[in-house]
Amino acid sequence: VRGIDNVRETRLNKGMAFTLEERQRLGIHGLLPPRFKTQDEQVDLCLKNISRYQEDLNKFIYLMGLQDRNERLFYRVLSENVEQMMPLVYTPTVGLACQKFGLIYRRPRGLFITIHDKGHIYDVMRNWPEQDVRAIVVTDGERILGLGDLGAQGMGIPVGKLSLYTALAGIKPQQCLPIVLDVGTNNKDLLNDEFYIGLKQNRVTGEAYDEFVDEFMQAAVRRYGQKTLIQFEDFGNHNAFRFLDKYRNKYCTFNDDIQGTASVAVAGLLAAMRKLNTKLSDHTFLFLGAGEASLGIANLCVMAMEQEGLSSQAAHDKIFMVDSRGLIVKNRPEGGVTGHKVDYAKDMEPMKNLGDVVKKLKPSALIGAAAQPQAFTAEILKDMGEYNKEPIIFALSNPTSMAECTAEQAYQATQGRAVFASGSPFAPVTINGKTLYPGQGNNAYIFPGVALGVIASGMHHIGEDVFLRAAEALAKMVTDQELDVGRLYPPLENIRDVSLQIAVQLAEHAYKTGEASTYPQPADLNAFVRSQLYDYHYANPLEQVYPWPTREASVY
Ligand code: NAP
Ligand code: MN
Repeated sequence: VRGIDNVRETRLNKGMAFTLEERQRLGIHGLLPPRFKTQDEQVDLCLKNISRYQEDLNKFIYLMGLQDRNERLFYRVLSENVEQMMPLVYTPTVGLACQKFGLIYRRPRGLFITIHDKGHIYDVMRNWPEQDVRAIVVTDGERILGLGDLGAQGMGIPVGKLSLYTALAGIKPQQCLPIVLDVGTNNKDLLNDEFYIGLKQNRVTGEAYDEFVDEFMQAAVRRYGQKTLIQFEDFGNHNAFRFLDKYRNKYCTFNDDIQGTASVAVAGLLAAMRKLNTKLSDHTFLFLGAGEASLGIANLCVMAMEQEGLSSQAAHDKIFMVDSRGLIVKNRPEGGVTGHKVDYAKDMEPMKNLGDVVKKLKPSALIGAAAQPQAFTAEILKDMGEYNKEPIIFALSNPTSMAECTAEQAYQATQGRAVFASGSPFAPVTINGKTLYPGQGNNAYIFPGVALGVIASGMHHIGEDVFLRAAEALAKMVTDQELDVGRLYPPLENIRDVSLQIAVQLAEHAYKTGEASTYPQPADLNAFVRSQLYDYHYANPLEQVYPWPTREASVY
């Protein structure tokens, strides 16, 4: 390392926080202004800079610049200002950043592997400069958030998710690898966009695509080992379920859109059970949407109800689903029912309209994840309030504009009795003099903690039970006072502690069941996991010196 590299390398850089001794010994004295700053002062300056930008996209660009310039400072800003920063580095702003990726592109981040690299993926992976990668987040960009196919510009998502691995769960940045598998895009706007950064061709599908993803999985393990955690993110519906079923028992992998969502939603339901003093099996669930989110949640609900003592069939019987063609029933006119939906198809007459289904079933829980804005009409909400003392209403579709109803609408229609959660944040609502705080079922409560638990204990597989256990842990972290004012999740500012607790509980369980492989087993797991965490405070870059007896060491 030459002196100047200490300033140019984001991982080494401390900016004006280099001390006089460090500047002189590292050979960078004079290359920095003659002012010495603490990291605290630097954080203040960053926050001032961010607040000067009016547009969120510009705030995002500033933060990416900071990440490229001074990694520790970036993570400190992120970690200590989660509520303010998360909407910038993650949904919703990251979505806009992906759409404008070609325009705002400055420096590369993450690894781009294209279909033309088929047969050479391992060689491409060897170009990644880090030796100790523990976690990969991979996308093929086909279904970025609710925005559809963004091709290679989907890279913003793995980058953003892994930033949260570090900021929320203390997983070291050098252990995180964001990857885009670029097989083309079917997005015509991007194909015609002069700034598009990916392959300008339609998506490769079928056997060639499957072989490509297979080769990637094998290359990842060959390069970084069997325990490398591979998180699938924002794949199209069809591929997401297929790959999860195909790889879940062969690799250390999970799909956040299916399983992470399931876990955070079931955590909300379990918190609601505490509030209502009921069990899941006391309820009738109606889902609007039967995609990655809904089916993931439903499957985990079934598991939770089985744990309560129900048979698999009895648990499935309590869950009803409406997709784009109406209530999912066995005798569907044309096309039938396919995939995981089959498990929830009922012996009933077809019904098209959600309002009619609600009247017919009188469900106690209504869960929306179909990206159909305002699908929970005033009448539907009122009906839910009539059938139930405290109806459970989750409007999970993102972003805010897609929500099935607002928090205010849910509370208004039920005189404040609704037990409400949403995917996007809603402001508190005051009704009959009582202020209610709607829960936000953000996946970020779950995936960083799960990843930390998996990595720390060295799990080889991530079973479905991991997500149920994480949900249970999260639901327990809500206090009775919080439940009383409508919250179903701990406040966002506690999210780092949430991640740590989830990780420790998952690790504990993994050692009990023999799924852990980090040996020797730490005596104090909490202390062990803490000791693994990334420290965003600056380190001393100077080699440590220590004396020998003068007689031995003297050369004069
Ligand atoms: P997906 O796999 O594409 O599924 C969408 C589902 O909605 C499909 O089953 C589709 O029906 C159904 N649908 C579409 N139009 C409909 C209509 N008019 N009436 C009834 N159902 C309709 O998408 P996803 O991954 O599940 O995501 C869905 C939404 O959930 C998105 O807005 C996403 O942002 C949100 N989400 C929230 C969270 C969270 O809050 N933490 C997490 C993940 C996702 P067909 O099957 O018939 O096509
Ligand atoms: Mn996603």
